[in-house]
Amino acid sequence: MRFVAVYALTIVAPAILLGWFGISDSLRGEASMRAAVESEIGSSLQAAVSGVEVLFDQFEQNAANRLASGHSVQESPGEISPYLLLAVRLDERGEMVSPRPDTRAGGLPDHLFFLIGDYASARRLEQQGDFAGAALLYQRAAAEAPGVVLQGTARLQWARVLARAGRMREAEALYTETARMMGPRPAVWGLPVAGLARLGEGKVLLQRDPQAGVRVLRAVVESVLASAPSLDEAGELSVALHALDHLETRTDADWLASRRSRLDVRAQQIYWARRLLPEIQPFAAGGRLLRVASGAFRYTVGDVGLWATTWQGDQLYAFALDLAAVLDQVLVAVRQSMRPDGQVAVTVLAPEEPPPPNTFERRSLAPWMPGWSVAAHPVDAEGLVRALSQRRMRRILLVLLSMATVALGATLISRLVSREMDLARLKSAFAANVSHELRSPITQIRLKGESLQLGLAEDEDDRQRHYDTIVREAERLSRLVDNVLDFAAIERGTKNYTLRPADLAYTLRVAVETTRYSMEVRGVDLEADIPPSLPVIPHDPDAIAQALTNLLSNAAKYGAEGHWISVSVTVLPEEVQVHVADRGIGVPPDERERIFDQYYRGKDPRARRSKGTGIGLAIVKYIMDAHGGRVSVAPYPGRGSVFTLHLPVPSKP
Ligand code: ADP
Repeated sequence: MRFVAVYALTIVAPAILLGWFGISDSLRGEASMRAAVESEIGSSLQAAVSGVEVLFDQFEQNAANRLASGHSVQESPGEISPYLLLAVRLDERGEMVSPRPDTRAGGLPDHLFFLIGDYASARRLEQQGDFAGAALLYQRAAAEAPGVVLQGTARLQWARVLARAGRMREAEALYTETARMMGPRPAVWGLPVAGLARLGEGKVLLQRDPQAGVRVLRAVVESVLASAPSLDEAGELSVALHALDHLETRTDADWLASRRSRLDVRAQQIYWARRLLPEIQPFAAGGRLLRVASGAFRYTVGDVGLWATTWQGDQLYAFALDLAAVLDQVLVAVRQSMRPDGQVAVTVLAPEEPPPPNTFERRSLAPWMPGWSVAAHPVDAEGLVRALSQRRMRRILLVLLSMATVALGATLISRLVSREMDLARLKSAFAANVSHELRSPITQIRLKGESLQLGLAEDEDDRQRHYDTIVREAERLSRLVDNVLDFAAIERGTKNYTLRPADLAYTLRVAVETTRYSMEVRGVDLEADIPPSLPVIPHDPDAIAQALTNLLSNAAKYGAEGHWISVSVTVLPEEVQVHVADRGIGVPPDERERIFDQYYRGKDPRARRSKGTGIGLAIVKYIMDAHGGRVSVAPYPGRGSVFTLHLPVPSKP
């Protein structure tokens, strides 16, 4: 009981604890790995969204500042956002206010063709070098032209050929007058007549009075830049660019560069405004304008533009950001959000785009990019699952291995302990058996001796039986004492045998004959077939005799019912075998090893019926070991057993 408690406390409980902690730790480890991935997903997505947020925050702030400052949103759009393609202003009804919409009717007016006849003749004369003639024809066309635009157009040609004819003053005056005549009128049907007249005037003036020419040309450029941007101002812009070309090297380079870049910006705005016109429709369509709080931005995604709209009073401003460029920037933000050695990748998804397989989490990029989203997914989904299961397997294996080791240790220990306990039991049984074994021959000797002493024997035969019993019991006693003493010496490790070349046949015969008498008294038929001579084997004759005697006495004890014992010898080249056979109870197969253990006594009740100490065969085994041989047991065919002493024949030198 105490043993069970100690065992449970020192082995079973720690093993269970080890298993419990090992497995729960493994599960915790797995959970922490999952948590690490989840937090990486969260942080990556957060970083990606924050990156996008920063980009739009900056734009919104700049745009709001610009609107608050009252400056035109069309000036230096790059300062509002590097991605800004276009800024438009719409009125409350959704009509485009700036840039002004294109008011031109489609195509050129029919009566423009009125000019064609005179124009063709004039051009022919001009080609022939008759500039004066050409000038006259253009003059006539101008006089007859219906409407101020056609008049102005013809006058431009007239002034141009006058200049070619070298009549500079006239040309200059004509240009000036035409420009005045057209007034600040913008281009009509794409014809910036006034602008062209001013350009012509400036060019002609440059030759006569360069300073005055430069002044006029600069004024042409400034007036275009000062005018409100309009979708039909392409003609004016090209006039202004022409003017800049003529001013090259003639005026301040900084002024030139700044005006050129402002003209470029306007040209680009016009280009994008035309290109993105269809995308503006949703804002421009009256009634569908969604009013949001002043200063708040609302985003819509078009094909090319990412539109941000905001109200300022009654005015709606729409900013078209370059969707492709913004996306590039979003990708940069997303890439920065991913850990270089991380397990999670983030992908930008267009509206309707299916997320990659194994997507863990998806976060919308609204309000800035409605419909767009970012998705986090494992860089290597299978690898992640594999790593997780490998880790789990490794940990569980480790735990199982340690538990198995503990279990093995526990089994070994319990075996050892039960062995020791068995031995202790056997030892105490041995002590009881020895005293019992001693008592019975002593009692017999004493009884028979006393009978003789008191003259109780009836006749000579009776007396003789008494003597026989005394001799037999004394022999048994001395054998027992020999065995016990030898065994004690063996246990102490002080038992030594002196091996010397002696006649084995003689040794065996003496042993057999010594026992024969007591056997015959018991009515046992002892058959001995020992060859007269046997190979010379170095041995301790007393020890071999003791071994044989022990076997014979066992055969008599456990083979009593058979009443037959046979001693025979087999000579083999490598060993001499001495067999002791009986037809007794036999040795069950599972005991054939153990019967040679010290103190071991057979379990068979028939074996238990005979008294014994359990050391006889242990001594035989020890003796045989000392002779370099062994003892074995086999069932005797039919019934009983045969014990064999194997004595090795020394190899010849
Ligand atoms: P003991 O005879 O004192 O019990 P041994 O060491 O001589 O001790 O024998 C051990 C056991 O071997 C015996 O208890 C018995 O069960 C078994 N045994 C020995 N010799 C024989 C035999 N000839 N036939 C059957 N069983 C035997």
